Amino acid sequence: MIELIKGDITYYLETNNSEEISELFRLADRIRERYVGNKVYLRAIIEFSNICRNNCKYCGIRRDANIKRYAMKPKEIVKCAQYAEDLGYGTVVLQSGENSIYDDKMADIVREIKETTKLAVVLSIGEKTYGQYLEYRIAGADRYLLKHETSNPKLFYELTGRNLENRLQCLRWLIDLGYQVGSGNIVGLPGQTIEDLANDLLMFKEWDFDMLGIGPFIPCHGTPLENHPPGDPILTLKVIALARILTKNAHIPATTAIRTVLGDDKAHLIFRCGANVVMGNVTPLEYRKLYRIYPGKVCNFKDPESWLNDIKEQIREAGLKPSGEVGHSLKRRWRLKTLKLKHNNKNFDLKKC
Ligand code: SAH
Repeated sequence: MIELIKGDITYYLETNNSEEISELFRLADRIRERYVGNKVYLRAIIEFSNICRNNCKYCGIRRDANIKRYAMKPKEIVKCAQYAEDLGYGTVVLQSGENSIYDDKMADIVREIKETTKLAVVLSIGEKTYGQYLEYRIAGADRYLLKHETSNPKLFYELTGRNLENRLQCLRWLIDLGYQVGSGNIVGLPGQTIEDLANDLLMFKEWDFDMLGIGPFIPCHGTPLENHPPGDPILTLKVIALARILTKNAHIPATTAIRTVLGDDKAHLIFRCGANVVMGNVTPLEYRKLYRIYPGKVCNFKDPESWLNDIKEQIREAGLKPSGEVGHSLKRRWRLKTLKLKHNNKNFDLKKC
């Protein structure tokens, strides 16, 4: 059993020695093989609205960005999810900017997808109340993605204008409600130190998240950080590898952001540094180009079918197997089948997966 301490983590994050970096990637690859096997799970993502009340300095769909806004209709979202199932995906991720437009619609959207497909449903719609998370969970949502972005509270406040503690409270609620929970960070944020990254990694291990989204910072024009340099791809791969070594069986995607900075020809390498999941974009093209959290997204102009073929090819190129299975969390706590919850004096029996 390999147990890394903070000193080892910072050492590997800092080293420029190519032998040591290769050794780190090889170790992550072996651990991926041993704990999660050779399948790479395919998840479909629908970016259903770019309307956002937040003003994160790094994000291209921030409130102050001067861009055309859209909000897909609930029926369109459900249809798009059904299409994802037809393409062979086992999971659909519904992602948007943080807004209230869907507050009273989300539960119905989730319910309809769960009733008409076999898909696992993942929500990625930001910070909500406990009551809302409960409502969506009862409607059938299986998982939730809410990246903590950086574990440094000062940096988080500086970049988002909000308190990290609220986000962590949301993550605690999501865990209590029996969601499979994904967090993650951005690598190379202006002002972020190697120690901050080491703390992110220790937090991944301590919280034992089911999923971890790790991607480099990509400057986006029209944002206050447009002139800052992007996050280093090798450093990002090191964070992915260290996350695999520390957490063993978390689902770790080859995120669109790291795929974007590496480019299509090198994207297969991410699957040999610890990643075991990848997302394919099924957002209708007319909306997809407006969901510009950062520029140059690899998927921007590909139709969903050729996009899926390309990612399957990259997975095979890495010597692994693309899988359209539902691919639930591999964490042991998921062997428990039900969860009893009390809210507003009502009892709820939730099936865990
Ligand atoms: N509103 C949702 C979804 C946010 S977009 C939420 O708050 O969770 C999904 C992710 O994109 C964010 O969590 C962030 O990590 C990433 N992101 C945004 N802007 C970025 C940029 N410029 N570079 C890299 N990643 C970025």
